[in-house]
Amino acid sequence: MFDLIIRNANLPDGRQGFDIGLAGGKIAAIEKSITASPGEEIDAAGRLVSPPFCDPHFHMDATLSLGLPRMNISGTLLEGISLWGELRPLLTKEALVERALRYCDLAVTQGLLYIRSHVDTSDPRLVTAEALLEVKEQVAPYIELQLVAFPQDGYFRAPGGVASLERALDMGIGIVGGIPHFERTMEDGARSVEALCRLAADRGLPVDMHCDETDDPMSRHIETLAAETVRFGLKGRVAGSHLTSMHSMDNYYVSKLISLMAEAEINVIPNPLINIMLQGRHDTYPKRRGMTRVRELMAADLNVSFGHDCVMDPWYSMGSGDMLEVAHMAIHVAQMAGIEDKCKIFDAITVNSAKTMGLEGYGLDIGCKADLVVLQAADVTEALRLKPNRLFVIKAGKVIARTAPRVGELFLSGRPASIDMGRDYVPRCCSADPKPLERTTELLRK
Ligand SMILES: [Zn+2]
Repeated sequence: MFDLIIRNANLPDGRQGFDIGLAGGKIAAIEKSITASPGEEIDAAGRLVSPPFCDPHFHMDATLSLGLPRMNISGTLLEGISLWGELRPLLTKEALVERALRYCDLAVTQGLLYIRSHVDTSDPRLVTAEALLEVKEQVAPYIELQLVAFPQDGYFRAPGGVASLERALDMGIGIVGGIPHFERTMEDGARSVEALCRLAADRGLPVDMHCDETDDPMSRHIETLAAETVRFGLKGRVAGSHLTSMHSMDNYYVSKLISLMAEAEINVIPNPLINIMLQGRHDTYPKRRGMTRVRELMAADLNVSFGHDCVMDPWYSMGSGDMLEVAHMAIHVAQMAGIEDKCKIFDAITVNSAKTMGLEGYGLDIGCKADLVVLQAADVTEALRLKPNRLFVIKAGKVIARTAPRVGELFLSGRPASIDMGRDYVPRCCSADPKPLERTTELLRK
């Protein structure tokens, strides 16, 4: 009756010791004890089982290109953009496909099965679009890849930017991007937001814009984006990526802005690793953090999901395709370390991202897709702290990746012979008293 049963799983909402039965590519049962004997069985042994991670903001055309054709010396966003401009004419479809496929292999082992990637449309050859449309098809059995037509050099600012973006949409790219803060003037930026929202409305497509990725408190394209979203009837289908200028804006102005964003049901996508690395670069001390106002936006019921943005490319020399690393940084930068805060942060790399991306059948309920990850951690807070190994990654009811638990051997007299990073370091008073962990899970369930 079941193709696969995962036994003794802890769930992200704090429920403990459940069996999850998978059949026909769907979740068919979540019960305390399923008696049927399945084709295959996994013992989660009291570890966390989560829906897969989703990355709603990535650049798969640039990933793994670090050092090509040279390194970013200043480490700034602007040098990154000009460095990418040097690399772009040298790009070939073959090299783009090869790098993207390698990144997707890494993503699968990290339990990252849904990715939205921006695709630079500035070069009229559109070799980036051609390559990533091919990758999207190739990885479809294991990763759902969404593509955004992204005018990196400016929709109006780059010669041929308007025509090139439209051609990328004609080729099959399904989301309209933008970069208003990079247009020549504030006014051009606002015009680009209007034109791109109109284009999306005409074609029935969602919008996902790099918006106000700057420390300039007067960069207020998010206000225009919210207004145009309402005007063109795009509520809930528009994402504002980065929004770092909000970090530096006047507090009174922000109190008005957030309610406009809520009215437009803007999906907010901060990119914590990249924002903390690139923003505040022109400051002396104190240096701003640059990430948008995550706590306040969440409190206003806006859908906030975190993106990885970059992995080893002209903008960011680090990254490992691990959304828990992204969330870990978010906890620090947003200063959200309470248990409830952490649950919200975990949602931001799972269910909230799924909402941003408009995913169907995502989640851990009966009838949802049988896409799951077994982690070497007992619960959500431990997963965020440890960034543990993904022991099993399951797609459509089948195991598609496996990683052995991280266990360290010790050679110390009078000390244990080994430690399991996910089991021996859960919070507790002493090894005989698991109470503090239970309190954590009780709090999670509230
Ligand atoms: Zn980006």
